[in-house]
Amino acid sequence: MNRPQTRQTQPGKGWVQDRTHNNSSAKVTTIGTPLQLLLPRLEGVVTTGKGWRARCPNCGGKGHKLAIVEGDNGTLLVTCFSCHDTGAVLAAVGLQMGDLFQRRHYRNMTPAERSQLRQAALIPRWRAALEVLSHEATVLLIAANKLGDGDQLDDAELTRMRVAALKLFDAQEVLNAR
Ligand SMILES: [Zn+2]
Repeated sequence: MNRPQTRQTQPGKGWVQDRTHNNSSAKVTTIGTPLQLLLPRLEGVVTTGKGWRARCPNCGGKGHKLAIVEGDNGTLLVTCFSCHDTGAVLAAVGLQMGDLFQRRHYRNMTPAERSQLRQAALIPRWRAALEVLSHEATVLLIAANKLGDGDQLDDAELTRMRVAALKLFDAQEVLNAR
């Protein structure tokens, strides 16, 4: 089932301007950026030329040892110049490493990105289908060798071969699906 992409996508459509940046900036971010997730959880936040500094929730103290820099794609770089343990810093405020990365909504993706995501979702099914193909091919090979040696296949073996053929057709369906 190939779904044609009929909808026109415009750059910036469905995106929300981050209010912390002025509108002349080309930088656009989705609602709930990693920055919006992290900053309210930190204490003593101050802005610097490159980003922000804050108190480290992991090692404490009054110094602004934690540096936060936002990348072009919304990904955050978080470094503590004292403990250097970003995982522990995030855990201290109830976040994980994955929260530093921009999660883009499906509707904001380009057709190419959506296609990539759909393909990625199919990979586990393809892997399972390939395992079935490999296993059932072995079953048929054993039967073929037996016939080649001049042996007869009994009813149970014939039934197993038919099952193998059905499983191969099923696997083929999965692999042909888009
Ligand atoms: Zn620290």
